[in-house]
Amino acid sequence: MELEHLKDCMKNVLDKSRYQHSLGVEEVSCDLAFIYGYDTDKACIAGILHDCAKNLTGDQLICECNRYQLPIKEIELKCKNLLHAKVGAAHARFIYGIEDADIYNAITYHCTGRPAMSLIEEIIFIADYIEPYRKPLPKIDEIRRAAYEELDLAVYLILKNTLDHLQNTGAIIDTLTNETYEYYKAKGDCNGQFKRNDTFSL
Ligand code: FE
Ligand code: FE
Repeated sequence: MELEHLKDCMKNVLDKSRYQHSLGVEEVSCDLAFIYGYDTDKACIAGILHDCAKNLTGDQLICECNRYQLPIKEIELKCKNLLHAKVGAAHARFIYGIEDADIYNAITYHCTGRPAMSLIEEIIFIADYIEPYRKPLPKIDEIRRAAYEELDLAVYLILKNTLDHLQNTGAIIDTLTNETYEYYKAKGDCNGQFKRNDTFSL
């Protein structure tokens, strides 16, 4: 499906602010794909579609999981909004006709991340966090700078920020987010790359 057509579809299924967020993610994903040598067309598609199920209610998300036989974790039953990622991937495939495993996985893991993400998974995970229309987040400038220098570092900083925020607010944390954080922390420590630039406060 053409990107412009997918944008029109998103305009219809998302509210105004989520549509604008999706456009922002698409733009940043395209930039990051260009910089890091990934197919920009695929990155744009993954970016514009990543939140395509975001406007569904919790009950609708459960219903869609049943329809597409997607497994539901206990934490996703407690926090149904998390399901918009895997349902979004299913909709990308079955409603919008995107039969591409890379795009499917990038949408599935855009909330939690996962250990050893592929390039496009990292790009969408980061773009979702740093796109320009998001309301200001702590340390966002530092994370944006990292995104254009070292993807793994940006992933690490986003996870650290997210876990700090979730812990401070007492929110439920998906164990996959913790596992992803531990993976990228260990990877950074191992390569010494997170200590390379002392302007990043870790
Ligand atoms: Fe999302
Ligand atoms: Fe998003």
